[in-house]
Amino acid sequence: MKIDYHIHTRFSSDAEIDLKELARKAISNGYESIAITDHYDFGAEDIANYGIPPYLKNYAAVDEIRKEFPNLDIMFGVEAGEYHRFHEWADEVFNLRPPDFIIASIHQLLNGRNLSVPFSKILTPEDAKAYYQENLNLVRFGKFHILGHLSIFKRYLSMYDDSHCLPLIEEIFQEIIGKGIALEINFSALGKTLQNVLPEPPLLHRYYEMGGRLITLGSDSHTINQFDTNYNKTVEIVRDCGFTSLFVWKNGQWEEKAFM
Ligand SMILES: [Zn+2]
Ligand SMILES: [Zn+2]
Repeated sequence: MKIDYHIHTRFSSDAEIDLKELARKAISNGYESIAITDHYDFGAEDIANYGIPPYLKNYAAVDEIRKEFPNLDIMFGVEAGEYHRFHEWADEVFNLRPPDFIIASIHQLLNGRNLSVPFSKILTPEDAKAYYQENLNLVRFGKFHILGHLSIFKRYLSMYDDSHCLPLIEEIFQEIIGKGIALEINFSALGKTLQNVLPEPPLLHRYYEMGGRLITLGSDSHTINQFDTNYNKTVEIVRDCGFTSLFVWKNGQWEEKAFM
């Protein structure tokens, strides 16, 4: 039984996955559930660059693929960037037909600097703090289901000491544990410079110690080759951190699924 709750398709401007090809690969690799979570970014610059994302078209395409692959559970989620800042615009779109769930993630600092792509400018300790502070603001807002890729700025760095941010990170954990928001374990960075999951194992240990159990796994695949790569390795890492199960969102609540 495998579950991947973070996948981008052609409906994301930076991805190229074909839904049918994805569904076929999911079935042949033993997935029980996958979630399509294309980008929904509503910052002025995002809209200027990419326009309003084709939400209902995206949803309709998933409906079609659901009919074609009835034995695969295909969730329709969204990845809402900087959701707490742009939720009024985003919700206008999401209210047309609510998605199954919302992953909210921080990609940018308040000054617009994107930390989810490779960057050359040095990241100062203050920048790292500002990044986690934005995540704290996001989870305080809290009207979503999954906190996406915490610590994403490390994806293209081989190491970065952000231990000065631990108090902020603990506040983030406390907030999501209290609110029933899941922590995504994003394994896109296993295939990138960092070569580890995000957030990294010491933080996962801390989350577990604080009572956090609600986790989802997300490959954050943008190409079909990324999908399923490193899945088993991720499960191993997550188990080593103490977790015995992951969660799926079903009928308005979290359902536990033991690792097998
Ligand atoms: Zn993202
Ligand atoms: Zn993503």
